[in-house]
Amino acid sequence: MMDAGGNSLPSGPDGVKRKISYFYDPEVGNYYYGQGHPMKPHRIRMTHALLAHYGLLQHMQVLKPFPARDRDLCRFHADDYVSFLRGITPETQQDQLRQLKRFNVGEDCPVFDGLYSFCQTYAGGSVGGAVKLNHSLCDIAINWAGGLHHAKKCEASGFCYVNDIVLAILELLKQHERVLYVDIDIHHGDGVEEAFYTTDRVMTVSFHKFGDYFPGTGDVRDIGYGKGKYYSLNVPLDDGIDDESYHFLFKPIIGKVMEVFKPGAVVLQCGADSLSGDRLGCFNLSIKGHAECVRYMRSFNVPLLLLGGGGYTIRNVARCWCYEV
Ligand SMILES: [Zn+2]
Repeated sequence: MMDAGGNSLPSGPDGVKRKISYFYDPEVGNYYYGQGHPMKPHRIRMTHALLAHYGLLQHMQVLKPFPARDRDLCRFHADDYVSFLRGITPETQQDQLRQLKRFNVGEDCPVFDGLYSFCQTYAGGSVGGAVKLNHSLCDIAINWAGGLHHAKKCEASGFCYVNDIVLAILELLKQHERVLYVDIDIHHGDGVEEAFYTTDRVMTVSFHKFGDYFPGTGDVRDIGYGKGKYYSLNVPLDDGIDDESYHFLFKPIIGKVMEVFKPGAVVLQCGADSLSGDRLGCFNLSIKGHAECVRYMRSFNVPLLLLGGGGYTIRNVARCWCYEV
C-alpha cells in the first residue's frame, strides 16, 4: 500500500497498515550530559542508524521537529524556570548557585552545552507528534528523543529538564476529550502523574520498580485526587520481573483501562531501562517482552504517540526501539 507521498505503509502483525510519522533531529546525538553520566543522547542516533540500515525509514514519514518555543514550554513550565534554562551555560553556572539549587539543576541534571536547544528539540518532537495525530495526518507518531517523564513544572529531575510528555498531552487535549498515558520505564512516571493528578481527562498508568528506588513515588494507593480520583493508576513491581509476569499484569490492566476510559489518544512512554541488563535498571524484560507492550497498545487502533525515556545500556536501547518500530 502506498500513501499520498509514495511511501509504502508498513503492515503490522494484524495485517493492518498504519501511517507513521517519525521525528528525528540529526543534531540530537551530539548533546552530551558529561563524562560518566549515564544518560546518552547518542543512543537516539544509534537507534536511527539501525532504522536506516534495516530499511525502515522508507516506510515512515521522517520529520525533523520544529524546536519548541518559549511559549510552548511555558504551557506547562513556570516562566522563570524556562528563562533560567534558556540562559544558563556551563561558563555562567558558578554565578547562579542559588538558582541551580532552586531548580534542581547541577547533579543528576547537569548544565551542558546546548542544554536549552536539546530541550527545545526533544519537546518539539513530542508536541509535533501530537499535532500530527490531532490532524489525523498519521496513526502513530514516534519521538525516541522524548519521554522525559520526571521533569516538574519548575524543577528538573532524573535527567529530565522539560516534560515533553505533559506538553504533548496538553496538545492532544485540544482535540481529544480523554487521553491515556502509559509508562513502561522502570521508574515511576511522576512528573506526568503529578501534572494530571486532579483531572479526569487524562488517565496515567505507570508500571515501575517500587521500594527504595528513584523517584520514590508511585505507591499503589496513589490513585488521583478530586475529579482525578481513580484516574491515576500505579503498578509497583519488584526487581527481576520477567516478560510473563509483566504481561500477566500489563494486558488485563490496560485492556480494562481501554474498555472503561475509552481514550481518544494514547501516549506510551517506552523507557528501555526496564530491559534486562540495563546499567541502572533491575528488571528482566527481553526486547520482545518490552515490544509486546507496544504491539498490544497498537492493537486498539487508537491514535498513538510513542516516546522514549530511560535506557542506559545503550546498545540494548537502540536494538529495542528499532525492533519496536
Ligand atoms: Zn527510567
